Amino acid sequence: MKKTIVPFFISHQGCPHRCIFCNQEKIAGSNGDFPSPAEIRDKVTAYRRTSGCQGVDVAFYGGSFTSIPREDQLRLLHPLQNLLASGEVTSIRISTRPDSLNAEAAAFLSASGVCTVELGVQSMDDTVLEQAERGHCAADVEKAVACLKNQGISVGLQLMPGLPGDTWETSVSSLSRALALRPDFLRIYPTLVVAGTSLARRYAEGNYCPLSLAEAVNWCKMLLHHALLAGVPVVRMGLQPTTDLESAGTILSGPYHPAFRQLVEAELCFDLLRKLIPHCADTSEPLSLSCAPARIADVVGQKRSNIQRLVREHGVRIDRVQGDSRLAHFDIVVEGSSGIRRGSIVKDLCYSVENYHSETLDRSQKKEISHA
Ligand code: SF4
Repeated sequence: MKKTIVPFFISHQGCPHRCIFCNQEKIAGSNGDFPSPAEIRDKVTAYRRTSGCQGVDVAFYGGSFTSIPREDQLRLLHPLQNLLASGEVTSIRISTRPDSLNAEAAAFLSASGVCTVELGVQSMDDTVLEQAERGHCAADVEKAVACLKNQGISVGLQLMPGLPGDTWETSVSSLSRALALRPDFLRIYPTLVVAGTSLARRYAEGNYCPLSLAEAVNWCKMLLHHALLAGVPVVRMGLQPTTDLESAGTILSGPYHPAFRQLVEAELCFDLLRKLIPHCADTSEPLSLSCAPARIADVVGQKRSNIQRLVREHGVRIDRVQGDSRLAHFDIVVEGSSGIRRGSIVKDLCYSVENYHSETLDRSQKKEISHA
C-alpha cells in the first residue's frame, strides 16, 4: 500500500548558501518558516483523516535539515515523538546536504525516529559540483551514506542530470558511483532554469544551455535502465507538477513536463518494441501487443506517440494493445503473422555511452520530442 507522506517544506533552512539552480520558494511555494508543534500535529491529523491511513510518514523537505541549529531540529522532531509512539506517525524523513552529515548527526537522527534521509547529491563529478557551487565534493556523499547506513537509516539520493559542465558521460559515471553506494532509492530531476537563481542569470547571459526535453528523456531512460539493472528503485523522475511550479515565470527554460516519468517509460517501451518487431513483422499484416495492464499507457505512449512512430519509422500497423495480467511489469509481447516474441525492458535492452551518441538528437537543433 502506498504510504501517505505529510510534507513540511522548510525551504532553505540550514542552507549555507544558495546552490546555483535552487529556488525552493518558487518550486515548493513555501517561505520556509518552521511549523509550530500545533501545526505539525494538526496537519498529521488532517492527512490521516483524508487518507484513511492509520499511520502516516512525516517529511521535512526543501532545506538542509542537519545544518539548522540543533535546538530547531529538536523543536521540529519533538512533537512527533508521541505520534510515533502511538503509531499515528510511522516514520520521519528529512532531506539534507551530504556535507552536513557525520556520525554524530546520523546517531541523533536515528535516536529521534528519523528512518529515511534524502541526500541532495546532484552529481558525483567534482567538476560539475564545483560549477554548481554546491560547496561539497563526491567524497562527502560517500562519507554521509556510510554514516547513515551505520545507523540503519534508509538513504535516498537525488541526482540532477544536465547541470553546467555535465555531459552524458559524467551523468552516467555519476549514476554508477551513486549506485555503488547501494542507496535504497533514487530521485532524478533533470536540471531546470528556475527564476531567481544564479543559473537563470547564466542562462540569460547565454552561458548555460539546458537539456532539451528530448535530450532529458533520452538521458533519463538510460539512467533509469541502469538503475533497474542495479535493482535500485527510482521513485521520481522530474519535478512534481504543482501550481507554484507551473505558474508563469517560474520555469524559464529546461526539460519540464508534468508527466516526465511517463515520457521516459514510453521511450523504454518503444526501444523494446523496436527490437522485437523485426522478428514478428510481415509488414502487410497488423501486429498486436500485450503487456501488464498497468503498462498500456506507457506502451502506447502519450497521445499514441509510440503507435504512430511504429507506423512512421517501421512501417508496421498495430491493431491491438491489450493488458495481460500474467505478464511481468517490464515485459512486452509482440504477435504477428511471422511469430510471437516476448521481451523485457530490463533484460533485453542495453544502453552504453556509444549507443547514446548514436541515438541522441542533435542538441544544437533543440529538437523536441513531439507529444503535442
Ligand atoms: S540545493 Fe539544497 S543545499 Fe542547495 S540551496 Fe537548495 S535546498 Fe539548499
